[in-house]
Amino acid sequence: MIEVQNLTKTYGPTIAVDGISFQIPKGEVVGFLGPNGAGKTTTMRILTCYLPADSGAAQVAGYDTFTEPVEVRRRIGYLPESAPVYAELGIVEYLQFVAEIRGIPKSEREGRIAKAIERTALGPMIHKDIGQLSKGYRQRVGLAATLIHDPEVLVLDEPTTGLDPNQIIEIRQLIREIGREKTVILSTHILPEVEATCDRVLIINQGKIVASGTPAELTRAAEGKVVCRVGFRAEPAMVEPALRAAPGIEEILPLDTGTNGTCRYEISSKEQDVAERVFHLAVGNGWVLNELHTERLSLEQVFTQLTLGDK
Ligand code: ATP
Repeated sequence: MIEVQNLTKTYGPTIAVDGISFQIPKGEVVGFLGPNGAGKTTTMRILTCYLPADSGAAQVAGYDTFTEPVEVRRRIGYLPESAPVYAELGIVEYLQFVAEIRGIPKSEREGRIAKAIERTALGPMIHKDIGQLSKGYRQRVGLAATLIHDPEVLVLDEPTTGLDPNQIIEIRQLIREIGREKTVILSTHILPEVEATCDRVLIINQGKIVASGTPAELTRAAEGKVVCRVGFRAEPAMVEPALRAAPGIEEILPLDTGTNGTCRYEISSKEQDVAERVFHLAVGNGWVLNELHTERLSLEQVFTQLTLGDK
């Protein structure tokens, strides 16, 4: 269980985390989604007791991160973006070292290490030094180390960065399995990762939680909006102001402008007939319409709208 109340953290003039509150119960995998600099890592560092907050409170597994950091650390597994593994050690040697500093009794270490190796499918690499492993396998070693003390809560910072597509599928599967019995928060800016791995999403932007819900709820909340991709053979300098002035069009995101006198935009609108409106606008202005495609709002578009709206 993770509980966060009104957490704030500043670095000089930068408000990295701005009064956020959320709860994650046991058995849930929550994706912490946000653009660069949104405040994800800062929040995770507070949850894992690496950083104190300026104000607010956070409890992890029933203990306060500020007043009971030792208890929190005992119950948490933290995988930073690049797993802090020692290249010159063998896998087992490294896991023995982690088990020792985690205070696991000697008699239990062998069993715990074997289980962590099995869960992370490290078996085939077992005789290699960590320095000889690919990035994906090194990440697995990091995850094995994170699991060795059987923590109640897992905090994973961009756990699949730099992995190949097969490794990504395997690590996501593993996170889902782990999430059935533990509390997991993982940060990412990869949207398919959230849809593949998470029960719920928290979207953070400029230090604030701007949306929370299941991926399906978030896309449903945006329903009623129509997204339309349009392409014209016309000068963007003519097209863009006309689109902005057209009634019923809420947002315009340039996709590709200015090359060979063509331009493409993503338009969102509450008007179900937005495609017709764009068609008439093109005809009225004598622009050639070379793309017109409407669709339901995807999680990616919800994310873009929530996090780019004010930039
Ligand atoms: P990313 O996806 O790029 O890792 P993030 O969402 O994890 O970003 P944070 O690393 O938490 O974001 O950063 C939030 C804000 O705080 C940013 O504006 C960042 O520049 C600032 N920041 C983070 N760490 C420090 C620091 N040690 N000193 C000063 N500013 C910092």
